[in-house]
Amino acid sequence: MNIISFSPPFIDNDVIKEVNDSLLSGWITTGPKVQQLESAVEELTDLKGVLCVNSATSGLMLALKWFGVGAGDEVIIPAYTYAATALAVYHIGAKPVMVDIKSDFTIDPEKVRETITGRTKAIIPVDIAGWPADYDALYSLIVEPEVKAKFNPTSDEQKKLGRILILSDGAHSFGATYKGKPSGFIADITIFSFHAVKNVTTAEGGCVCLKLPAPFDNNELFRKFKLMSLNGQTKDAFTKSIAGGWKYDIVMPGFKMNMPDICAAIGLAQLRKYKKYLIKERKRVALTYDNVFKSYEWVELPSLQVGNTSTSFHFYPLRIKNITEQQRDRMINEIINYDVSVNVHFIPLPMLSFFKTTGYKINDFPVSYDCYSREISLPVYPLLTSEQLGIVTNAVIKSYNKVINSD
Ligand SMILES: *Cc1c(COP(=O)(O)O)cnc(C)c1O
Repeated sequence: MNIISFSPPFIDNDVIKEVNDSLLSGWITTGPKVQQLESAVEELTDLKGVLCVNSATSGLMLALKWFGVGAGDEVIIPAYTYAATALAVYHIGAKPVMVDIKSDFTIDPEKVRETITGRTKAIIPVDIAGWPADYDALYSLIVEPEVKAKFNPTSDEQKKLGRILILSDGAHSFGATYKGKPSGFIADITIFSFHAVKNVTTAEGGCVCLKLPAPFDNNELFRKFKLMSLNGQTKDAFTKSIAGGWKYDIVMPGFKMNMPDICAAIGLAQLRKYKKYLIKERKRVALTYDNVFKSYEWVELPSLQVGNTSTSFHFYPLRIKNITEQQRDRMINEIINYDVSVNVHFIPLPMLSFFKTTGYKINDFPVSYDCYSREISLPVYPLLTSEQLGIVTNAVIKSYNKVINSD
């Protein structure tokens, strides 16, 4: 039997053709394909001001750096996320401050409130599995007079914004909607990931979506971010490669975080069939799981759609009621016997060695631990057939029965 993999990249003939086109064009790094990918993301998110970078981690660092966040500053993040959310904060010299989540896996605005200090410069909500965080609650919170009064701006950008920055880690949420607005169009800045396992991919990559309020000019910010992602160099290599374009200047100590065209080509071909095909198929898969599992009282179904808010169907975060972490681990071992790949998103950061050494304890994050201990992420991708979905759901049900009956 073939193994049902967890999240294979979507590679069809159109993707291969687009990459081939890049290879044969004589230009493989940042150039026309990146520009087309940026336009395609802008179109899908209603935005003006999307910059492709070489990873979401880079995008997070770029945004924090631009906002002037550094040593002595604090950035509030959920304990329940991938390590990159925290590490991006470390890498620019600031302190990630973790808070617990709500039962929908997203950062708890009430816990955020208790954690804001005069050093807080940004909050990074994470849209786990593509389900948007509670942005309305976070935005109401940061403009409350007492919270605004605590804000202590130390850079021109911080003075201009006059409040805490909401920087969304949208690594999972490309294609999601929050109260009718597309992910990317909600937070001040949203970072998507196009890593190989994400729902749109460029092998490695990501993008920065700029939606800063006036008096910021997002077109101008785009140029600033681009400069910051390319050594602070006034011309990219493509522009320099055009005859007579050799002169350039370095106007700031920028990072090197640009996306190559050869990578952008993969994502570009995928985005052309995103709305009509890719997200529709993901939804089909997730709804199939819902339809099967809704008749099992031991299953806690994830939020997929509530009113005008919808996930991107990045993966299906199933939770089992009343089981322990050990029972969940045994269930996963059983599921693997059916040649079905599943995952757990995520091991809360306070359970990982590095974060333990910085003083975090999982006991302080009970909701994160509860979600983690009962979670099994099921595969969601366009090519999963009904037959394969039957194998996945059967594997979950049989494994549950086996584990529960053996106790
Ligand atoms: C994948 C992921 C990232 C990092 O994305 P990269 O593009 O690999 O840097 C960040 N946050 C979350 C929640 C992720 O799942």
